Amino acid sequence: MCVTDPSVDDLKSKMQLRQSAQKIVIASHNEGKVDEIRVLLSFTGLDVLSAKQLSLPEPVEDGKTFIANAEIKAKTCAEKSGLLSLADDSGLVVPALGGAPGIYSARWAGPQKDFYSAMTLLENKLQPGDNRHAYFVCALSLARPDGTCYTYEGEVHGQLVWPPRGELGFGYDPIFQPEGYDQTFGEISPELKHQISHRAAAFRLLTNAHFG
Ligand code: IMP
Repeated sequence: MCVTDPSVDDLKSKMQLRQSAQKIVIASHNEGKVDEIRVLLSFTGLDVLSAKQLSLPEPVEDGKTFIANAEIKAKTCAEKSGLLSLADDSGLVVPALGGAPGIYSARWAGPQKDFYSAMTLLENKLQPGDNRHAYFVCALSLARPDGTCYTYEGEVHGQLVWPPRGELGFGYDPIFQPEGYDQTFGEISPELKHQISHRAAAFRLLTNAHFG
């Protein structure tokens, strides 16, 4: 069973998670993402492990949405590890490019994970005069080994800027300037990114429902 409605207040699940879970596995091999999630989960006191640490294989992400892919990753990880698992599926959506790179954000960087090339590709695809509005989406899915999962989605909107600015963060951060700020995600402090990002928004929903 998967629940994707954040308004569902499953008190029974909340109590069970708080009492039984001492370990949680982050279903990701992306160290940048695992580091951010580790910080966001620090207040729970859970022992945070990663799928890479446990040498768990990466499942095929063949979902058509961020939510579908987050659920595939979380459920596979929970089943293989026997532990509570959390997956993030995220990416950058550019409406002027029909939503690209979207769920293919990681794949645009190729096997070498070359995000400078991915950012250049994005810049080359945008025509002069195209709207530079973009947003990051994060779907977070929390799964138990018995197959139950709960999924939440967060967004942060902003503008694409060129050339890339800043060495902080990861992925497309150097070309994303969030609304209301004149620095990119590559320039702002990790503390500020943890407050305003798509991942932070999804985390607020998840922690209110399960760790509040
Ligand atoms: P996933 O591992 O399939 O969810 O791929 C997510 C990809 O989206 C990452 O590899 C990055 O390219 C991009 N992405 C997601 N969140 C962020 C972020 O906070 N900053 C920059 N890029 C991000």
